[in-house]
Amino acid sequence: MRDYSIPFNRSYLAGDEFRYMREAVERGRTSGDGEFTRRCNEMLEREIVGGKALLTTSCTHALEMAAMLLDLKPGDEVLVPSFTFVSTVNAFVLRGAKPVFVDIRPDTLNLDEGLLEAAVGPAAKAIFAVNYAGVGCEYDRLRETADRRSLKIVEDNAHGLFGKYRGKPLGGFGDIAALSFHETKNFSCGEGGAILLNDPVHVERAEILREKGTDRSRFFRGQVDKYSWVDIGSSYLPSEILAAFLCAQLERREEIQDKRRSISEFYRKNLGEWAGAHGVGLPQVPGHCESSHHMFYLLFPEAAQRDGLMRHLQARGIMALFHYVPLHLSKMGRRFGGREGQCPVTERTAARLLRLPFFTGLSEAELSRVVDAVLEFKP
Ligand SMILES: *Cc1c(COP(=O)(O)O)cnc(C)c1O
Repeated sequence: MRDYSIPFNRSYLAGDEFRYMREAVERGRTSGDGEFTRRCNEMLEREIVGGKALLTTSCTHALEMAAMLLDLKPGDEVLVPSFTFVSTVNAFVLRGAKPVFVDIRPDTLNLDEGLLEAAVGPAAKAIFAVNYAGVGCEYDRLRETADRRSLKIVEDNAHGLFGKYRGKPLGGFGDIAALSFHETKNFSCGEGGAILLNDPVHVERAEILREKGTDRSRFFRGQVDKYSWVDIGSSYLPSEILAAFLCAQLERREEIQDKRRSISEFYRKNLGEWAGAHGVGLPQVPGHCESSHHMFYLLFPEAAQRDGLMRHLQARGIMALFHYVPLHLSKMGRRFGGREGQCPVTERTAARLLRLPFFTGLSEAELSRVVDAVLEFKP
C-alpha cells in the first residue's frame, strides 16, 4: 500500500463522541435501543419529514430489511441502476428476486426515469433508486410510474442525508429509505445505518425483523406482557456505544454540512475554468435539487485521461478513486443476463469518472494541494 499524505477519506470527530460513548457505558447499558439510539432516531425523524426512523447496523442491513418488508421473493423483478454499490442489489437478490438493470442519466448519474416504463415487466415489484453523490432522482416521474404500475420505491440514500429534492429532504421519497453511517459517509459511527419507514404500514413489522423476529419492542413499551418469536428476522440493532458516537455527529449536522459545502464550492470555483477548457464534467445539480455534498468527481472525455490523472495525483501523495464498476458486467450481474452495451451511459461513465479526496476534516491547505496538482495535469 502506497503512503498517501492526502487520503481519499479520513474519519472525523465532531467533539462529543467519546464523552457520549463513556456516558453510554456508565449508564450500564450498552446493547441496542437505549437513550442514544432514541436520540438519533428522533433527530432523523425530525429532519426527514413524515417517517419513522430506526438505526440499523448498516445501510446494507436496512436495504435487506426493506426487501423483507416488501416480501420480495423468487420470480419477482426489481428495477435498479447498474451504477451503484453491490448492497443495493444484494438486498433483494438474497430474497431470490432478480435485478433488471436500468441505465442512468448522463447529468446526475441517477436512474434514468425516461427508461423505466419500458423496463417494467409483469413480474416487476419494486424500484430500488439511488441518490448518487447526494443528488435526488426525479421522484415526481418515479412516483408516477411506480403508482401506475403498482411498484414500491426503496430509496438508497446512503449518500444523500440532508440533500433535498423540490425542497423536501432526501430519504422521504421511497416507501422505505436506507441511510449509511459507514466511515466514508457524511455522518459516521464506523459502521452503521438507518431504515426510514415513510409508509406507516411497515413500522410494526420492521421493529420485529430488526429484533430477531420477536415482538420485543412492543414488550418494552408495555404493549404485550411477554415477547416471543413471531416472524423471520435478524439482529439489526447497533450497540449504544456506536449510537452514542453517531449522536455526537448528528447533533453537529449544520457544522459538518457547512464544512462539506465549502469543500464542494472550493473545488468547483478553482477547477471550473480548467474543466471547461478540457471538456471535463463536474457534478451537476439541477435547479430543483440541493446536494448533500457527499463527493466531488471529475468526468473526463476519455478513460485514459482519468487513469492519467489518477496516477499523476498518486505520484504526489494524493489518493483519488474511480467508483462503481457496472454491476451488469460483474460476475454476478452476468449471471442475471448482463451484457456489454446494455447500459451504455453507465459503461461510459464508470470508465471516465474520478473522485477527488472529500472528507469533513479536509483542510484548506490540503484542498489547495489537490487543486494545484489537478491544474498541473493536461488531459
Ligand atoms: C455505502 C453504500 C451502501 C452500503 O452502506 P453500508 O452502511 O456500508 O452497508 C449502500 N449503497 C450505497 C449507494 C452506498 O454508497
